[in-house]
Amino acid sequence: MSPIDVPGAESLLRQAIQARDPAYAPYSGFSVGAALLDTSGSVHTGCNVENVSFGLTVCAERTAIFKAVSQGIRDFRAIAVVGPDDRAACAPCGSCRQVLAEFAPELAVVTPDGAGGIRIWSLTELLPAAFDRTDLRAGRPS
Ligand SMILES: [Zn+2]
Repeated sequence: MSPIDVPGAESLLRQAIQARDPAYAPYSGFSVGAALLDTSGSVHTGCNVENVSFGLTVCAERTAIFKAVSQGIRDFRAIAVVGPDDRAACAPCGSCRQVLAEFAPELAVVTPDGAGGIRIWSLTELLPAAFDRTDLRAGRPS
């Protein structure tokens, strides 16, 4: 039982599994799918897209959020993330946590729990003290 309630979390996780299908991961073999739920109830999906120049690879979570933001959507409730194994936990990487925090610092992150269930994290739990606008202002010379 997760302390955070996300209605439809299981459905969101299933959509992340489906979103994983077109993943392009020839180098790592680690295909990832993400399903991002916005506050209107729409779901925006993404998969990872690798590149032979590894640093140019984009994760599934960032694919999903960039797709949504490019369509004018900026308010999100939850994201489900699944790696190659439908049952294994697969939390977002640090880069994705920072990008998600830009738009949804209170986002719920849904992952398999490794035992056939679901675990729901808060993004603040996964990325405490995220770099944010206050840090940007504080770093400017006066
Ligand atoms: Zn990532």
